[in-house]
Amino acid sequence: MSKLSRRSFLGSTAAGLLTSIALPSAVHAADAAPQKWDQTADLLVIGAGGAGLATAVSASQNGVKNILILEKMPFVGGNTSISGGGFNSVDPVRQKKQNIQDSPELHAKQTLAGGDGRANPELVKTMTANSYEAVKWLQDMGMKFKDDVYQIYGGLYPRCHAPFGSLGSDYIKVLKPQCDKAGVQILTNSRVVRLFRENQLSGKVIGAEYVDKDGNHKTVKANKAVVVATGGYGANPQMRAKYDPRMLNLTTTNLPCSTGDLIPLMQDIGADTVGMDFIQCNPGCPPGRKQRIILHLYAKNFIM
Ligand SMILES: Cc1cc2nc3c(=O)[nH]c(=O)nc-3n(C[C@H](O)[C@H](O)[C@H](O)COP(=O)(O)OP(=O)(O)OC[C@H]3O[C@@H](n4cnc5c(N)ncnc54)[C@H](O)[C@@H]3O)c2cc1C
Repeated sequence: MSKLSRRSFLGSTAAGLLTSIALPSAVHAADAAPQKWDQTADLLVIGAGGAGLATAVSASQNGVKNILILEKMPFVGGNTSISGGGFNSVDPVRQKKQNIQDSPELHAKQTLAGGDGRANPELVKTMTANSYEAVKWLQDMGMKFKDDVYQIYGGLYPRCHAPFGSLGSDYIKVLKPQCDKAGVQILTNSRVVRLFRENQLSGKVIGAEYVDKDGNHKTVKANKAVVVATGGYGANPQMRAKYDPRMLNLTTTNLPCSTGDLIPLMQDIGADTVGMDFIQCNPGCPPGRKQRIILHLYAKNFIM
């Protein structure tokens, strides 16, 4: 390969470059859609973490039938289930009781400031304007948050909701039974290795290929939509280093499932990426030691 600056390397969309690094062995590039499919769903969701399960629940509440989730691990939950579960949102009920003045506008301003102004303001606005609706949506399904909000590590204001029971797994304990109730089919041990568009590099995304628990390759056609909710790539050192070479040898608190498998697959069929070098690092355990120092829960207890 000729000399490439890091910037021109990251800016490239050549599939050869992007797939030559960090692809799990059985993953391969985009191909023509099959003539005959093994399975059909109306909505295909890839990944059964918090985002994937929430997508399926919301879709079923909005009338979508025949929803299939493909999950590569033998269990659902992903990183969401091991996360701290802290959820920033304005909250007229809890914050009023604690005498905290807040607004979605202040939340947006502080979110942008917390990310050194690099986030997309429109997306931030969408998140902060709708976060309390999401809190209520979860609560209506049985999610319990503690009575008081607090300031989480990385947040700039006391508006973080702490799950009442066992941190991030609380979300899964609420969302998974909702999926079951709605008849959402969840296939675990089913790793997606390919995405299909109507044509190789144009048209809608219409399906995927996965490897099932016995190693068989199967295809699924999605009549309405494919949603990719496969989380991040914190547990993939090569992919981390591709976007920020300093990250190669860091340890991670992520589950081993966070390997970013779908990112090169989506790039192969024409997707672009943004913000790939925004990699959050928490101070973890000192080198050679095993205990995790939980700094992200209560910022006020620590001097940074
Ligand atoms: C220790 C820790 C603490 C955290 N604390 C907080 C916190 O307090 N607050 C907060 O907001 N965030 C926190 N986070 C971040 C948060 O956990 C993630 O941003 C969030 O869980 C991402 O949800 P997700 O559904 O997108 O991904 P995940 O929950 O990781 O789900 C992705 C799923 O996709 C599956 N998958 C991946 N590849 C494939 C494939 N090829 N085929 C099929 N399935 C696939 C994975 O196995 C996984 O189950 C924390 C993270 C960690 C690691």
